[in-house]
Amino acid sequence: MNIARWLEASARLAPDAPALLAGAAVTADYAAFARRASGVAGTLEAGLGLRPGDRVGIFMANRTEYLEALYGILWAGAAAVPINAKLHPAEAAWILSDADAAACIVAGDTSEGLAQALPGLPRIAADDAGWRRLSANDGPGAPVARNGADLAWLFYTSGTTGRPKGVMITHANLMAMSLCYPVDIDPVTAGDCALYAAPMSHGAGLYTFIHTRAGARHAVPDSGGVDADEILDLAPRLGGVSMFAAPTIVRRVVQRARARGLTGEGIKTIVYGGAPMYLADIEEAVAAMGPRFVQIYGQGEAPMTISALSRSLVADRSHPRWRERLASVGVAQSCAEIAIADETGRHLAPGETGEILVRGPQVMPGYWRNAEATARTLRDGWLWTGDVGRLDAEGFLTLTDRSKDVIISGGSNIYPREVEEVLLEHPNVAEAAVVGRPHPEWGEEVVAFVVPEPGRRLDPAELDRHCLGRIARFKRPKLYRVAESLPKNNYGKVLKTALREAAAEG
Ligand code: AMP
Repeated sequence: MNIARWLEASARLAPDAPALLAGAAVTADYAAFARRASGVAGTLEAGLGLRPGDRVGIFMANRTEYLEALYGILWAGAAAVPINAKLHPAEAAWILSDADAAACIVAGDTSEGLAQALPGLPRIAADDAGWRRLSANDGPGAPVARNGADLAWLFYTSGTTGRPKGVMITHANLMAMSLCYPVDIDPVTAGDCALYAAPMSHGAGLYTFIHTRAGARHAVPDSGGVDADEILDLAPRLGGVSMFAAPTIVRRVVQRARARGLTGEGIKTIVYGGAPMYLADIEEAVAAMGPRFVQIYGQGEAPMTISALSRSLVADRSHPRWRERLASVGVAQSCAEIAIADETGRHLAPGETGEILVRGPQVMPGYWRNAEATARTLRDGWLWTGDVGRLDAEGFLTLTDRSKDVIISGGSNIYPREVEEVLLEHPNVAEAAVVGRPHPEWGEEVVAFVVPEPGRRLDPAELDRHCLGRIARFKRPKLYRVAESLPKNNYGKVLKTALREAAAEG
């Protein structure tokens, strides 16, 4: 089934219900949303000769037209290739060429940049009067029929290393992901409002489907991005707000809420994930804003859907092991089966650390035109996530690190995450990232990059004492580098590769 049918169904059931909002202003009800998506599909078919299965890029910042474009592409039976608007046009051009895209929908400055980087590719602007005309065209009355196994979304991994790979996400993958949401994360009703502050090319956009199915509102902040004050001001006007946010965004929202004496009024749920949320940060978030947080763990290859730590588990301090649970990524989502394996593929017992494997209907069928990477990642029916962690007897999954981030010093494995958690307990440390650098005797040694809290000083000798009091001697950093900020990619993930290079040089 084509997942765009969910839009068609909501438009039939509740045509007058508000669907798309720019800030707090309604720009389309469900009837108009479906009509525009169908109009976009008609234009793609008639104007470009687009056929089912073809790929169409979306390279623009968050705006309500993003959803018209996304659903229009799907309505035509094509697959969307959402590209982070912050990428360099040359990077976007590389992705569009790799995807062999038939066209790209653009807005604002991405249009000009792409015109230069990939002159031959048809571009459709979503931010001019032409878009209104185009989306008012007659389109196919109903979404073009698709099978569950057909490609819906080609997701280029955010790539903290090397060239991104195209993860093939099918209609069935998106449905499995979406149907887990109300069961494992948060029930969704027509009164809810999905707020898109994080890039719609990633997790925030993936979560659009279940809100469409429920006939809920989709709101895009005027800034089109992450402005903590704007989110805090807009949420009470919208009410029932749910948003996906990377831990860095959560931190910013919590800091502003505290500074302004707010508690997140109007926000129903903040789903966080995509990068480690440190214990100190989530404790502060719950203290400041209450039980509004749910954690998910997923990756493009199993979009948003491996494990979840529910609202009550995040907020429940009465459980004897609540801190351990809070530091975990929760339990398997309904459609996910999780195992931990050693390098040979042998499954490990609870408590043992190894690579995290997943299987279920949300797992991708493979990488786009990359049989070699697919064979490396999908083995014996399991997705090898590249993440390292352990399960406990109750089924809680704790992530230690990416397998390539594990530091091996003197033959012992050191998980950077563990050291980072300890450093963040120090009141003067705002951010910490730990990497290994080559050492002639030990193989690797531990280097910590630390960012001080505003107005505070960091003293390596004091940090060393702090670590010695909390973790094994061999795990503590041998060198501290105080930095003003940490290098991050467009989704807020710390670029460990860049830090490893800096550590090796310094
Ligand atoms: P991406 O495919 O870009 O969404 O990146 C997925 C990766 O982000 C995962 O393989 C993990 O390494 C990391 N990640 C996702 N969710 C979490 C989480 N809740 N805690 C820690 N790391 C996470």
